[in-house]
Amino acid sequence: MKKTAGIHHISAIVGHPQENVDFYASVLGLRLIKKTINFDDPETYHLYFGDDMGNPGTIITFFPWAGGQKGRIGDGQVGVTSYAVPKGSLGFWENRLKKYEIVYTKESRFGETYLQFDDAHGLHLELVEREEGKQNPWTFSDITPELAIKGFAGAVLYSSKPEETTQLLEEKMGLEKVATEGDFTRFRSYGEIGNIIDVKITPGIRGLMGVGTVHHIAWRAKDDADQLEWQSYLRENNYGVTPVKDRNYFNAIYFREHGEILFEIATDPPGFSIDEPYEKLGQELKLPKQYEKFRTYLENSLFPIEIKPNV
Ligand code: ZN
Repeated sequence: MKKTAGIHHISAIVGHPQENVDFYASVLGLRLIKKTINFDDPETYHLYFGDDMGNPGTIITFFPWAGGQKGRIGDGQVGVTSYAVPKGSLGFWENRLKKYEIVYTKESRFGETYLQFDDAHGLHLELVEREEGKQNPWTFSDITPELAIKGFAGAVLYSSKPEETTQLLEEKMGLEKVATEGDFTRFRSYGEIGNIIDVKITPGIRGLMGVGTVHHIAWRAKDDADQLEWQSYLRENNYGVTPVKDRNYFNAIYFREHGEILFEIATDPPGFSIDEPYEKLGQELKLPKQYEKFRTYLENSLFPIEIKPNV
């Protein structure tokens, strides 16, 4: 059996790009690590946020569709994106949510306390304290490394066939089943970030793709060779897997699991320093070679975005 270390990135569809930047950079204090375009739809942004260098397991990416059709979170999607914060920091985060008048609830799952809230476009998020995972050195405003989001705690999967999704995670992707409690079964991967996956085992409404929903979840492959192994292994297990796609910062293959959630396997290398230095990550619009000749046109058609110290 092959084993993934855990989540590589999560990609979602949101609304206006400035509202997206205001929420993830200015409220949550994540670093905008890459400003590029959707390679399949170059007139829209593809924005990446993560820890200080965009390590695998910390990366959330967005396709902002300003004025796009609202989606519905439901079965066949990642239902909740979970972020890990350092031990002892949840009080700080609760105050920060209050300061920004973000409505939240406090929930308990598997003995852990979660602050649950929605982002600016309706995406379900939650924060939970975790010992595991290294500190994020990125400091934004009063969010120091002792308080900063470390990366993904994990995710809650809303599968339309939970038994098949749990089987895939446990029997094919090498996650370990931890426990079942109420509506959820918990799995753990061997990585120390993006490693706790809760699968909702009770049926809900069907999800609809659109603004405010997760488009796909990507799992980690060590390198290109490992990814090719995943590709043939998944095909042997009757999953329709795409050819390898070059996403500049990683290579990607995609398949839809039987519970209808779009899965990707993404390589850890080469990472986000491939086309701009660490100090300048996220500052310039980065285009893949084939679009460089359209730079002026694209720069003029994309809404300018800025990171505001306060929103
Ligand atoms: Zn992806």
